[in-house]
Amino acid sequence: MTTKSNLHTHSTFCDGRNSIEDMIKAAIDAGFISLGFSGHYHTGYDFDDVQLRDPEAYFCELERMKQKYAPDFAVFKGLELEGHILGGVRPVIDPRCDFSIGSVHYLSTGGEFYTVDYLPEEWQRASDAFGGPRKLIEAYFEDYLCFANEMPFDIVGHIDIYAKLNEKHHFFDENESWYQPMVLSYIEKIAATGKIFEVNTGAIGKKYRSTQYPANFILKRLHEIKAPVILSSDSHSTDTIACHFEETEKLLKDIGFTEQMQLTERGFVAVPL
Ligand SMILES: [Zn+2]
Ligand SMILES: [Zn+2]
Repeated sequence: MTTKSNLHTHSTFCDGRNSIEDMIKAAIDAGFISLGFSGHYHTGYDFDDVQLRDPEAYFCELERMKQKYAPDFAVFKGLELEGHILGGVRPVIDPRCDFSIGSVHYLSTGGEFYTVDYLPEEWQRASDAFGGPRKLIEAYFEDYLCFANEMPFDIVGHIDIYAKLNEKHHFFDENESWYQPMVLSYIEKIAATGKIFEVNTGAIGKKYRSTQYPANFILKRLHEIKAPVILSSDSHSTDTIACHFEETEKLLKDIGFTEQMQLTERGFVAVPL
């Protein structure tokens, strides 16, 4: 395994199962040299129990851990920001962040909110409300594109997470003629913002699907257009901190990638895969 870090990590401060320090210890055991934390930050989503309950305590604990494990092991402070706007105002990225991930987990229409990565019934209701899978996926990418254009986050999180439940529930056919061209046109527009694309193994860790986000056809296009990528486990527990990393590194190399991005104290740098 050449990957020596993971920036997409959750803890008991949001919806993770283990403490920040337990996740750090698991990362050290996995041979990592650093670990970044990406607590969910969904400003205004009062109904949302996965988000950081106490951001002040979260940043305070991250600073304590940063000091405790320096200089041998680096701890990076981050957030996983939500792209769907509630109340029409985007949050400002907390200046304490070393990095941030931008993800879209929610869509809304007709005054109703829907998650696209949670319950199959909810996905179906969302699809009905939007007028079918094609319209829903288009709305998702429109939201994502605005988000990427308007917010200076570093990493595009799990870009095709709306397909999380599709392997088991077949809401839409990923080989239908409209699907891949539409997705790839948005991928190119989002890549033009210069952000790093996450290659996220989280759904494999949680056994929702057998492959990473993004799907292989997206990874191939990312490689063709020379978009930077970063491997991440979206880990919510110590046992998935480097889940499927070896296999996914091999996949990336087979597609033609020779490097991925890594966060250092000097910012993001490219490292060999
Ligand atoms: Zn997420
Ligand atoms: Zn996450």
